[in-house]
Amino acid sequence: MDGKEFITVILPLRLAWNPWYAAGGHALVRGSRVRVTFAGKTYTGVVDQLEAEPQVDVTKIMEINSVEDLPPITEEELALWHFIARYYLCTVGEVYKSAYPAGKIAVEQAGSRNRERLEARLEKRRDMLRKARRDSTRERYAAEIAALEARLAGAVRKEPDFASIQLSPTQSDALSKIHKAFFNNKIALLHGVTGSGKTELYVQLALETLAQGKNVLYLVPEIALSRQLEDRLSAFFGDRLLTFHSGETIVHRRDVAATLREGSYVVLGTRSALFLPHHDLGLIVVDEEHDSSYKQDTAPRYQGRDTAVMLGSIHRSHVILGSATPSLESLYNCRSGRYVLVPLAEKYHGGNAAGIEIIDTIAERRKRGMTGSFSRKLIGHLDRTLQTGGQAVILRSRRAYSPVVQCAECGAIPKCPNCNVTLSYHKDTGRLACHHCGHQEAYTGTCPSCGGALQPIGAGTQRIEEELQALFPQARIARLDSDTAQDKHREAQVIRDFAQRKTDFLIGTQIVTKGFDFEGLSLVAVLQADALLGQQDFRADEHALQLLEQFRGRCARRGDDGLFVIQTAQADHPVYRQLTGTAASQDFIGDLLAERQAFGYPPYSRIIVLVCRDANLPRLETLTRRLADELCAAFVIRPTLLAGPLQGSVQLTGPYAPPVDRVAGQHIRHIRLILRKDASLSANKQLLADTLARFEKESRYAGHVFPDVDPA
Ligand code: ADP
Ligand code: ZN
Repeated sequence: MDGKEFITVILPLRLAWNPWYAAGGHALVRGSRVRVTFAGKTYTGVVDQLEAEPQVDVTKIMEINSVEDLPPITEEELALWHFIARYYLCTVGEVYKSAYPAGKIAVEQAGSRNRERLEARLEKRRDMLRKARRDSTRERYAAEIAALEARLAGAVRKEPDFASIQLSPTQSDALSKIHKAFFNNKIALLHGVTGSGKTELYVQLALETLAQGKNVLYLVPEIALSRQLEDRLSAFFGDRLLTFHSGETIVHRRDVAATLREGSYVVLGTRSALFLPHHDLGLIVVDEEHDSSYKQDTAPRYQGRDTAVMLGSIHRSHVILGSATPSLESLYNCRSGRYVLVPLAEKYHGGNAAGIEIIDTIAERRKRGMTGSFSRKLIGHLDRTLQTGGQAVILRSRRAYSPVVQCAECGAIPKCPNCNVTLSYHKDTGRLACHHCGHQEAYTGTCPSCGGALQPIGAGTQRIEEELQALFPQARIARLDSDTAQDKHREAQVIRDFAQRKTDFLIGTQIVTKGFDFEGLSLVAVLQADALLGQQDFRADEHALQLLEQFRGRCARRGDDGLFVIQTAQADHPVYRQLTGTAASQDFIGDLLAERQAFGYPPYSRIIVLVCRDANLPRLETLTRRLADELCAAFVIRPTLLAGPLQGSVQLTGPYAPPVDRVAGQHIRHIRLILRKDASLSANKQLLADTLARFEKESRYAGHVFPDVDPA
């Protein structure tokens, strides 16, 4: 063999370097998948470098076991992995593991599946019509059959419908601004109020891309949203729409790769769809770009929106980000000229945003105007909604029956044995549960330390549901939170029932604020909105405003008037003044950016939190202190306290205990670095990576420190 005999192989592990192997006479290319043995186990790895020069004794290097009969990973995929690893300070192996999880990938042709579903329903109705006796019943089935047939005629479409969209003048104007941005190789940020028809614009751009024979990647933050969009999009794209889910049925990626090479497909999916073997990628759409669900909270902790921008630069694709409430980062990128801001300020069906009523719960309680969690005013609005056949969604940001239980005798509060958090009471299952590690125990109602009676403190979604049902016994009420969403079918059913007006009131956590489109919705209300504001985080106001604005957008989508009720104990909080348009300054974004700049916070800097975990607390404390010292020495700085503007180019805080400082038996400490976005940024990031690697090696403390770049 020639000089190619040594290769490096990416393994699905957290290794600081890629191990060397001998090719053993196999014909390999970069990206080939090979079976290798590492530390006594065998793995499927990916060839990274050919003609590698081993920095170890070559006689100790093993040969690969075999070459897998799988298509090689593409150069573009490898480029993305390396990009992510460098940016997010993780290993390429971790990215590989996340990109190609063992098994469990599904890509479905949405059009075909829709058609099958509709056909099955049609068949059932026809059968019922044959069996029905009464004329009125027969008429009803006949009407349903006609409606299903019409829908099927639409869904049977195999090819995209290129002439289907008629844009309004405002939308056409936005479209030409987007075209111009793309022509100048810029990323477009579509800032469109809810109901302005952003989806229509994405579809138009996607159709243009398909017409050129290229593929489109359409990203949404959550699977539940992708399900609702699927029906809508398959009406435009027919069998050209592929939906991508991770963790469902097993389909080989080989098929996906082959399909994408054909061109002219739209892939709809969540962030993991970034890792498909993309080919001829003409356009990337990032819908609801502000949504923090784009950030993955386990390694590699990548941000889907930002990674989409990286993917776009690798494939030279056009990228459009869109939201009714864009992230500050993206708005900053518009101001600095990297992105082009495209506003869309008009609702397609006309009408105004839902009116806002702020209810001061402290004042109401004083006036005896509260019944449990509900103010009398809100009860009045709910009553009117019910009387007029409308629908309401109620947001409460805590799930469970009560977030805390307390002994009425001794005041003891049961906590999780593994985590430093209180146990929530789940009345439906009769259990106390930890929302961090999943620990559960039976709820006996008596205090484990003194035998006194335990009392639920505060109200989560379950208790709100119970209160609401007591207030409105005749109302049909459903709940949507991560407890009910555990069961994906049930979740889909709850959403479908509400969309079809089989439910009057829907109670839920943050899930209900996301892009759902419910025609009958006329009232949205948030209880204890303070829980959204109260976080010790400089981004809390930005996030609260985005969440409230998104939630407000759920109602009055079709031009009708809607109402948004906010119950809060801090009625004069600046976030509400901003929301109601009564703030002194109208330039909230400008003000926020000025504040961030003054403090040296993102987007003017980059935050990296080193999350350190260890079951052994003294060891964790000693080693994180040593790590902080070494970093300070490397950067020639001293640690600072939490508050205060950024001085110089680098600031280090910690180690400190985060609000939840023990999870699943692991103690947690954070070290926070703020790196100014100046000429020294990339050198400083490299210095951090090098110092960390040296520290892990010298103190033999690998596997305890996890960098989180751009934490959510
Ligand atoms: P957004 O995503 O900006 O909240 P949507 O795309 O959901 O807004 O549009 C709101 C409503 O207006 C939808 O019912 C959509 O079908 C309709 N709509 C928007 N633009 C058009 C258009 N050009 N032609 C027909 N209907 C449109
Ligand atoms: Zn726990």
